[in-house]
Amino acid sequence: MSEQSLMRTRPGLLVFLETEGAGLSRLSVETAWTAVGLGAPLGRPVDGVLLQTGPAPDAASLAETGLSAVLVYQSGRPGPATSGLMAAALTEAAAELRPEAVLLGASELGREVAPLAAAALQVGLTAECSALNLSPEGLLIQTRPAFGGDLMAEIVSPAARPQMATVRAGRPRRPPKGGPPLVLSRQAPALGGELKVLAREPLSPADDLEKAAVVLAVGLGLGSREAVLRAGRLAAGLGAALGGSRAVAEQGWLPPERQIGLSGRSVAPDLLITLGVSGSLQFMAGAGRARRLLAVDRDPRAPILAMAHTALIADVQELLPALEALIERRHSEASAGARGPGGRPAA
Ligand SMILES: Cc1cc2nc3c(=O)[nH]c(=O)nc-3n(C[C@H](O)[C@H](O)[C@H](O)COP(=O)(O)OP(=O)(O)OC[C@H]3O[C@@H](n4cnc5c(N)ncnc54)[C@H](O)[C@@H]3O)c2cc1C
Repeated sequence: MSEQSLMRTRPGLLVFLETEGAGLSRLSVETAWTAVGLGAPLGRPVDGVLLQTGPAPDAASLAETGLSAVLVYQSGRPGPATSGLMAAALTEAAAELRPEAVLLGASELGREVAPLAAAALQVGLTAECSALNLSPEGLLIQTRPAFGGDLMAEIVSPAARPQMATVRAGRPRRPPKGGPPLVLSRQAPALGGELKVLAREPLSPADDLEKAAVVLAVGLGLGSREAVLRAGRLAAGLGAALGGSRAVAEQGWLPPERQIGLSGRSVAPDLLITLGVSGSLQFMAGAGRARRLLAVDRDPRAPILAMAHTALIADVQELLPALEALIERRHSEASAGARGPGGRPAA
């Protein structure tokens, strides 16, 4: 495909890609797969756009997306880019390619960039879709929970283009292996007077839900955001990644990308510890690959207790302080051991 052939008569889909190290974020790759899954059966081209601030993204991760072309905007500025600059690059790409739909992963960054770009393009935005369909006429049917999850709403934008949506982590099908996308270089638009990002810190491997050896998952049984924050500190003390049920993500107690389950991430740790998670089918769809499950719930009839290798019937409100004290004691013993007898560092 040449650059000329991008000037299309038939519009397609455009995906905003987030870089991570030398590659792309997992959620970006999966969002690209979602878009390819929608566009390819209808013969629509599916392209990507990214803002390059460091080294060029590696060819293997671009090829993994299954996209036809990727517009790579070069940031003229040193240091990490702002969401404003990313939104400007996305807006320019949308103006150039005139896609019928634009998709972004519902990551923290995607949730910042999407409304900025939607405002610049003067279109609406459906946030955090859990399912998408594309009609042969190009109408994007955007499904997302409404009224606290009691209802799944289907939202369409009959007139405004492009249709824009952020997509929650799911488990889209990987497209068949194809050639690498055409990479087209573009100069990022000049912007001024906006926020400056001083640094971005990547997650530690222990905090990467999909790769972590130990995952601590929290459910509605924790009862409050504060308890989830405490569980987060507990997870850090255990060297575990923190995740949770959709009910917790919907309360806003955990970011959506930490949701485990059918419409969230799929985890496969050596040990999964759940606190106040009932064990719905949808949660277990993302948790079933854990090698061992230790579940805590106060209701002996909670389904998760029947599935657990170790089941503990207990109130998490009482258990949390005991676990915190245990971690604290372990850390003190470990640092005393490191200091050696008499408080001197061990040789
Ligand atoms: C299309 C669709 C997709 C979905 N996708 C997902 C998904 O990806 N992930 C997901 O998790 N859900 C998903 N759900 C929602 C799912 O059906 C459940 O509603 C959700 O998993 C429940 O979360 P929970 O276990 O935290 O809450 P609850 O089911 O309310 O369970 C809370 C548990 O905490 C226990 N508890 C309460 N207080 C305490 C206490 N003090 N101490 C100890 N235990 C206590 C209770 O006994 C109960 O077992 C989806 C639903 C639909 C329709």
